[in-house]
Amino acid sequence: MSELMHTAVVTGGSRGIGRVIAESLAGAGLQVYLTYVSRPEEAGQTVDAIVAEGGRARAFALNVADSEAVAAFFRDEIKDKVHLAALVNNAGITKDGFLIRMKDEDYNAVLDVNLKGAFNCLREAAKIMSRQRAGRIVNITSVVGQMGNPGQVNYSAAKAGLIGLTKSAAKELAARNITVNAVAPGFIETDMTRALSDEVRADYISAIPLARFGEPKDVADLVTFLVSSKAGYITGQVIGVNGGLYC
Ligand code: NAP
Repeated sequence: MSELMHTAVVTGGSRGIGRVIAESLAGAGLQVYLTYVSRPEEAGQTVDAIVAEGGRARAFALNVADSEAVAAFFRDEIKDKVHLAALVNNAGITKDGFLIRMKDEDYNAVLDVNLKGAFNCLREAAKIMSRQRAGRIVNITSVVGQMGNPGQVNYSAAKAGLIGLTKSAAKELAARNITVNAVAPGFIETDMTRALSDEVRADYISAIPLARFGEPKDVADLVTFLVSSKAGYITGQVIGVNGGLYC
């Protein structure tokens, strides 16, 4: 076991699901490096909340879609400085619109952050974890990548792509004792879903067997388990946290 501090990188850890994942992993004893792109105040508040609970955390501005910036982050802040216990690819955006009106820029932006961004981080983390011969990677996909959703061809394509990325990476990295899994939330209460109209929200709830949206903690608890030593024989899986919406 390395003497370096065991650290988890959580992309998009400043708010929403990522924030609760960061808090949960810190509660499990890992130092957490969380990344954000546009809201330093919220990232700072998340770090403060973790530290107030006795945990260790730092925040980094990092656009995951920028492969050079991602490579520099892993080279300058992670490699030889910490033991990279876990990477949680959580950063994500939506830019919804119907297929026939969708602009190239909205399609590309969603693919760039949700899929290429995860690939960028996964590639750098895999190099470091391969040398460590240990590591846990969790990719936050979505039920929408499994079942589709009108108005989200870009988002569902990215999230479905992330499932393929997860399965191939799991097969490549297993020999190095690195697990790679995907967690697929259903509808979870965050800024992303607060933007929905009451009508759309009621429509979604009517399709969820548990008849409510989930909480970020529902996702964070599973991620924390997958990162733990208890999950060493689980890899290449897509695990839903969706109230029964897709099963
Ligand atoms: P959210 O509340 O909108 O938070 C998104 C997070 O991602 C923020 O920390 C944001 O940073 C960060 N981010 C956005 N673009 C980024 C970029 N280019 N580089 C780095 N970080 C970036 O979202 P959420 O609802 O918690 O969703 C988290 C993940 O779960 C996403 O991958 C989402 O697709 C997935 N998911 C969510 C739901 C749901 O119902 N909420 C369901 C299924 C899957 P800033 O704060 O700096 O903007």
